[in-house]
Amino acid sequence: MVIRRLLEQMGNEVIAPLRPSQRTLDLGVRYSPEFACLPYKLVTGTYIESLERGADTILTSGGVGPCRAGLYAPMHEAILKDLGYDFEIIIIEPPSRGIGDIYRKLQKLNADKLSWLALLGLVREGWAKVKALDDLERLSHYVRPREIEKRSTTRVYQKTLSWMAEANSIKEIKEAHEAGVAALKGIPQDPERDILKIGIVGEIYVVLEPSANLELEEILGELGAEVDRSIFLTGWTMDNAVADAMRLTGGRSVKRAAKEYLPEMIGGHGQDSIGHTIIYAKDGFDGVIQLSPFTCIPEIVAMSILPKVSKDYDIPVLSIVLDEQTGKAGLTTRVEAFVDLLYRRRRQRLEAGI
Ligand code: SF4
Repeated sequence: MVIRRLLEQMGNEVIAPLRPSQRTLDLGVRYSPEFACLPYKLVTGTYIESLERGADTILTSGGVGPCRAGLYAPMHEAILKDLGYDFEIIIIEPPSRGIGDIYRKLQKLNADKLSWLALLGLVREGWAKVKALDDLERLSHYVRPREIEKRSTTRVYQKTLSWMAEANSIKEIKEAHEAGVAALKGIPQDPERDILKIGIVGEIYVVLEPSANLELEEILGELGAEVDRSIFLTGWTMDNAVADAMRLTGGRSVKRAAKEYLPEMIGGHGQDSIGHTIIYAKDGFDGVIQLSPFTCIPEIVAMSILPKVSKDYDIPVLSIVLDEQTGKAGLTTRVEAFVDLLYRRRRQRLEAGI
């Protein structure tokens, strides 16, 4: 919703991508290479649906590092043009590839020729909204396992998102955020409940996109686990845009934590999955879930190291591989078993006085 508003204010007609559905995935699977990772397939399907709805330009991000993300855009362009779609693709590369390139592309998108001051104002507004959205989501993670009426948090949280979508100035964003916080805090909760703390690590797309991880955060919350997601948009932007532009290493403490096990950046979030798991263990979390798209090389590497981390730091880790065959019932069963194990482990440790 933030990028949409920014582009609209610059004078573009925006066709925002729909929430990925089974049709999106079916289209993606049909028109992607068989061994492409799940995010690639979902993005293929999303592009096709957007082009069917009239889009003539695709705006996407590029990528660096030794994983396939940097090749996504040229591959999508070639495949979709081969299918007969007529469109232009604008790829925003990370700032370390050159600020000049970003400047030229922004000029192209700035159809109404807004001044740099006006653009800066819109970016400030967008950043305020992203921060408020992340904050509301974090609060929903806290409230959900404590809710008395099942699904009340999810209902209220959806409402807060619609308030945020309608907020179009810093003042309105502040008001919508405050109303959202009050609504979430107002949900009747059981303060005595025995709550587990589970960290979620893994590849960014499947960690952030609920339709790709089959609403894992809701499943866990409703089973009585407070979720801490290792990736939020605000943190990701600071690490990958701001720190990158200033030639700093984003997420330094995470990379330092992972160093003993994986000293190299291997693309995607493989190194971060290790570092975050160690930090969660040190912070006393009950367990960690790693989300990995099928065939994702960085997460496969992390998956081969995580058993050692789990043993060394005495923290249970469940690795879940997601692809087009993954169903919600099967995922829920695995997660229920993991949550049972964590409760049993907590009881045993309490009895043993650990
Ligand atoms: S990190 Fe993994 S899932 Fe993401 S683009 Fe790279 S290989 Fe694909």
